[in-house]
Amino acid sequence: MKALQFPLAIIGSQWGDEGKGKIVDLLAEKADFIVRFNGGNNAGHTVVIGNTKFKLSLLPSGAVRGKKLLIAQAVVIDPAVLLEEIDFFNKKGIKIDLMIDPRVNIVMPYHKELDAATEKWKGKKATGSLHLGIGYCYEDKNNRFGIRFEDLINPKVFQEKLALILLLKKRQITMVFGQKTQLTIENIYQDYVHYGKRLKKYLGDVSLLIGEQLKHKKILFEGAHGTFLDGIFGTYPFTTAVYTIAGSVFPYVGLAPQKIYSLGVVKAYTTRVGNGPFPTELFDRQGKQMQIIGGEFGTVSKRPRRCGWLDLPMIKTATRLSGFDYLAVTKLDVLSKLPEIKIGIGYNLKGKMISEAPSLMSLFEQCQPVYKTFKGWQKNISQIKKFENLPKEAQAYLKFIENELKIPIKIVSVGAERGDNIFL
Ligand code: GDP
Repeated sequence: MKALQFPLAIIGSQWGDEGKGKIVDLLAEKADFIVRFNGGNNAGHTVVIGNTKFKLSLLPSGAVRGKKLLIAQAVVIDPAVLLEEIDFFNKKGIKIDLMIDPRVNIVMPYHKELDAATEKWKGKKATGSLHLGIGYCYEDKNNRFGIRFEDLINPKVFQEKLALILLLKKRQITMVFGQKTQLTIENIYQDYVHYGKRLKKYLGDVSLLIGEQLKHKKILFEGAHGTFLDGIFGTYPFTTAVYTIAGSVFPYVGLAPQKIYSLGVVKAYTTRVGNGPFPTELFDRQGKQMQIIGGEFGTVSKRPRRCGWLDLPMIKTATRLSGFDYLAVTKLDVLSKLPEIKIGIGYNLKGKMISEAPSLMSLFEQCQPVYKTFKGWQKNISQIKKFENLPKEAQAYLKFIENELKIPIKIVSVGAERGDNIFL
């Protein structure tokens, strides 16, 4: 494989869970810094090495390689979860070299309670939040009502802020949502000051470090979620609170606009968790097969993921939004048992053919996919290391994707293991 260029952003092109964690882990070998720049611990990644499954939700996937890890300002941190991940790696004998930006916002217990209360109130219209408080944390961040990492390590400031904020939050939980709450300032304060003490040593200006080192170090930006979970350009409101497209790296890290490369991670089929439109969804045995063979159950939520055929109009939109320079196609092996495989190549929208996801959600829901059918290869491909050795049907499937998108596929992942890849 001709070396990929850095700085490089790894971006999910679908609804998340594309297998970005494995790709970041692979590319982290060549990188110096791995940066998380969006989302919170609602974005889980899995990296498999031998018999060990590393499940990460806040530490960048490069953790497994002992690289320098940076958490930039737009990430929100649940400190208990982060400390648990750090302890997990320390116990495995892997030292964590971490820097956290002081502007990072902290997920507080009242965010989680408000999250649960809102979902309950929405009933059938619930967005499928995991009650981790991420959306509420971002809401406070934007309202300038958040607790930043800087506050967490300054007990006096923290206490003052918390006293004011908690009063309002408790009223919201009890009087607006009519729910009970056990939250007290004493409990929260004690726990969070303790977290602050433990995390203090990781404080550092991530924006400054990246600005200084961008030309000297190989920097990998690890995107969380996926393009269609983007808070603006995704399938709103079944989305996250953040941008997930490549351009978000600049404000989310604190970096001036310039050329950064981007690699789109494309799962060889499509999945999504929770509600919302999904044109190529399968409701039959084939969808169930993808779910079981692909292990399509949420890393964090354990919820079964909805499965369907690859949807090229979506990937075309993702490509336009993030300007992918490269592609990685993942989980190709999951399709190996199917006699026939389809790719959605366009949508029929009220009798008119369209080639990208429409911006109006009311129209997206009405899109009928138009398929091209491919012959399946029905062979195990997980041990194959060279493109030429793939069954010709699998080659045709990949070539079609590459030709349609006009972007080179650089990695094909054919198994969950770190070594199960084909480099092109
Ligand atoms: P991410 O959030 O995009 O990193 O994706 P997840 O980690 O949630 O989901 C990807 C899952 O698929 C993980 O369990 C990976 O171990 C697994 N995985 C990644 N690549 C492959 C692959 O090529 N084949 C198979 N069978 N599993 C894979």
